[in-house]
Amino acid sequence: MNIAASVGPALALEVADAQSIAELRHQAEGCTRCDLYRNATQIVFGEGPGAAEIVLVGEQPGDQEDVTGRPFVGPAGRLLDACLEEAGLDRRRCYVTNAVKHFKFTPRGKRRLHAKPNAGEIRRCAWWLGAELNILQPKLVVSLGASALYALLGPKAKLTPERGHILHPANHPPVLVTIHPSFLLRVRDEAERHRLHLEFVSDLHKAAEFGAR
Ligand code: SF4
Repeated sequence: MNIAASVGPALALEVADAQSIAELRHQAEGCTRCDLYRNATQIVFGEGPGAAEIVLVGEQPGDQEDVTGRPFVGPAGRLLDACLEEAGLDRRRCYVTNAVKHFKFTPRGKRRLHAKPNAGEIRRCAWWLGAELNILQPKLVVSLGASALYALLGPKAKLTPERGHILHPANHPPVLVTIHPSFLLRVRDEAERHRLHLEFVSDLHKAAEFGAR
């Protein structure tokens, strides 16, 4: 695939005028670029050191992230932490964010069920992701799942054939393609889940090695 010709919305957009992540976050708190801010508790912006060489990009905040205002603190986040540790990659050295910054959900009684962000929401929120990457200038971006991949590289990049590969879009940081940890939580078959878990850790290990170069 010609990645240079398929740079996605985040990387193609003009970025916000902010000098730091703190300033950018402050700007994003008032974002109304799509409707997702209306029902969410708060924005869940990226977090991590300003000098992070590796940026992990997920899909969107979940229920616990929406309540706490922090990314990857729910079940998928805990699994991510364990897999990062297995891979020898310290989360405290990474900047962790999402393609979409507000929680999209469907109410079901007292529960709020995750609802997948659509292409328009991802494209609109890519404004912020592009701005985060522009400030951080990381060595490597790890794309966790299909929504992150869409935000980063557009519709031509496909998760299954590219999984485990490091892609090199023109004039932008390399992107390592892998699954979202929440996918592992949904696999019922134990043997299959174990296989996918090992693959995921192997992908993260690749990121750790790339970051250490
Ligand atoms: S999801 Fe993103 S684009 Fe939509 S309102 Fe929230 S910050 Fe803005």
